Parts: sequence; structure tokens; C-alpha cells
Amino acid sequence: MQTKDNTIVSYKDIFEKCYNFDDADKIKAMGIYPYFHPLQSAPGDEVLIDGHKCIMVGSNNYLGLVNHPKVKEAAAEAARKYGSGCTGSRFLNGTLDLHIELENRLAKFMKKEAALVFSTGFQTNLGTISTLVMKNDAVIIDRQDHACIVDGARLSYGKVYKFAHNDMNDLERVIDNVRNNNSRGGILIVVDGIFSMEGDIVDLPHLVEVAKEYGARVMVDDAHSIGVLGKTGAGTAEHFGLTDKVDITMGTFSKSFASLGGFIAADAKVIDYIKHTARSLIFSASIPPSNAAAVLAALDILESEPERRERLWKNARRMKKEFQNLGFNTGNSATPIVPIVVGDDLDAFAFWKELFDNGVFTNPVISPAVPPWQAMIRTSYTANHTDEQLDRVVQVIAKVGRAKGLIS
Ligand code: PMP
Repeated sequence: MQTKDNTIVSYKDIFEKCYNFDDADKIKAMGIYPYFHPLQSAPGDEVLIDGHKCIMVGSNNYLGLVNHPKVKEAAAEAARKYGSGCTGSRFLNGTLDLHIELENRLAKFMKKEAALVFSTGFQTNLGTISTLVMKNDAVIIDRQDHACIVDGARLSYGKVYKFAHNDMNDLERVIDNVRNNNSRGGILIVVDGIFSMEGDIVDLPHLVEVAKEYGARVMVDDAHSIGVLGKTGAGTAEHFGLTDKVDITMGTFSKSFASLGGFIAADAKVIDYIKHTARSLIFSASIPPSNAAAVLAALDILESEPERRERLWKNARRMKKEFQNLGFNTGNSATPIVPIVVGDDLDAFAFWKELFDNGVFTNPVISPAVPPWQAMIRTSYTANHTDEQLDRVVQVIAKVGRAKGLIS
């Protein structure tokens, strides 16, 4: 580039990386690109993709409510009454009586004093963690925590530490180190309740003991646990009988609740602080009325039909057992998320494509969502999957697994 005084300088173009980016094109050229495929139907247990019918075992629709008539009707009714959006943040013009009703219901359901609804689960973690952890504080996270926990921690002004996945001895080593270097600052430990890719459950009993010993607060991301774990479906803390020991529970509406949005539940004073300081809440528009009403309807069903959770678990247990009997590596899965570890990224894409061609939709997961060389086919189950659908899934996965040499 020539400047005003005629000197020639060469600046790096910020777009250079975009024009050079061909990773996706290469996978597309191989015919195994697995991402951004549009669904032409509701994301239920059978979906239509590119005119091709598939059994869906790659959703987070754990209780099978995304296409439930009562949930859809509640969303439609709210849109008729309140319109299609809120045109502002909760802080200013974007709070509806529906949001307040939802927060009251969620607080009661989670057995906490108060709850706060954000626009997405991602924003919930970003806003909550970054506003709590200040300059002389520390946030300690599991290496396999969800990306929005990592980003929330990064956005904070505190120091970020990681411990080995679900290893409470390593957590103790890290926190001991933190206390030795930073004896007085506040510490927040943030973990997934159910880890979203591998489907294992956090060792919460051990974690809360360590937290107590070192004066740390505990936040659990129950995105995949609400509606799934616990006697009433209230998540990981309820599952372990530790509701009082978890300081903040975070949840999303995009999974069991069949909608979009996120929330935290905690002591009223903590919620009040976060409500007035979390930037992702204050500077982002609130969830539309139809989304809030859908969650309220889903919560009604979740509370009144515990048999959905039982069916979900029956399906999940069956699938894990089938895959293990076939000889697949299902990692440490203990929930309706049952991965099949493949190893290499391209092998995972090729595996995904064969499953897709055979009418089974799954999620191929590669690094950084999982550690390198741990690429997997993530399968996940719902209360609505029928035995026949699951028979077919097992049959197809066994056939493709044998063809690819993953099992004999
Ligand atoms: N936490 C976890 C553990 C998740 O898996 C996800 C979404 N996959 C989120 C948070 C973000 O939630 P949302 O998609 O509702 O923004």
C-alpha cells in the first residue's frame, strides 16, 4: 500500500485468514462435511434433511418436548398476546410479566431463593462468571467445561485456572496452589453437571468438600442435567442431594425446556447483584414471549409427567449397554449422551456420513470440543425414541462400525 508521503508499507489484511481458510472446503470436496445441514422438519425423533428421512440421535431434546402440542400452543398464544419480540433488554423495556413468572417458577423448581433469565445459555455463563470474578479473584474450571464457561472466565478480570477433567485430586492441587499465591481473593469453581460431549457426571460430592475446605463458591452448569438428573429433574445437585451446597445452578432452555434462553438460580442477594451488573443481561434483548411461554409449558409437563424422565433413562441405559456389548468405546458416559469414540477427525466425519446415508443423524465431535485424537460420534437420546427406532440405530451403527473396523 502507498501512503500519503509515498512510502510503500505492507500491512497485514485482517481478512487474510478468511481468504486462506479452506478446511471446510476440503471436507466438502471429500463428500463428508457434516455441519450446517438444514432440517426441513421439526427437530423431533425423525427429521427430514435434504429430503432424506433420518432418525435423530443428535439432539438435546431430552424430554421430547420441542414438538409437543401444549408447548407449541403456549408459544403461539404468547406471540398472539405479546407479539413476536421484546425489542429491548430485561434491564430497560424488555421485561414482561411472563419473564417474572418464569423466574419465580424456576426458583421454586430449583429450590433456590431466586432465578434470573438470560437470552441464551451461552450468555448466562458469560455474564454470570465475568461479573462475579473480579481482579484479585480466581475462577477454577474443568478442562472439559463448555466453551461458554471458558469464555466467561476469560472475560472476567480474575485469574483462570484449569484442573484435569473431573479429577478432584487435581482440583485440590490447583486450589491449594491458588490459595498459596492469592490467599484472600474469592474463588469460584465452575463445572458442567453433565459434560456435554462425553456424557459423564461431575463428581460433585468430592468437589463441594474441596470447595468448602478452601472457602470457594460452586457454580454448576446444568444445561444437560435439568429434566434429566434428580428425583424431580432439577439437575445434578438434586441427583446427589446437594442442593444447598451448590451456590449457583445455571440452566438453558435449549434442551429439555424445548426453547431458547438460559437462567441461573441462587440466593436472592446474589441474583440481585448479577441482575444489575451482568453485561450480557443488561446489554442484550430479552427472550421473546413465545420462548418464555414455551419454557413455562415445558416445565408444567416436566413436573407433571415424571414418566418422561423414566423413559429417557430406559432408552439411554439400553443404548449404552448395546454399544458396549458390540465393543464400542463409549468413554465415561453415564447419561443420555452416549458417545462412540472414533479417534481421528476424518474418520469421525466418514463415520458420520455413513450413518447419515443409512438414515441415522448423529453429531461428529472433534477438538477442541474434545481432546485431540478423541474425535467421537456423539449420540443422545430422548424420552420419545421408540424401541423400533433404537433397534434401527443399533443395527446401523453396528454395521458401519464393523465396516470401518471400529468393532469386529
Ligand atoms: N452449557 C453447556 C454445557 C452447553 O452444552 C451449552 C449448549 N450446547 C450451553 C451452555 C449454551 O447453551 P445455549 O445453547 O442455550 O446458549
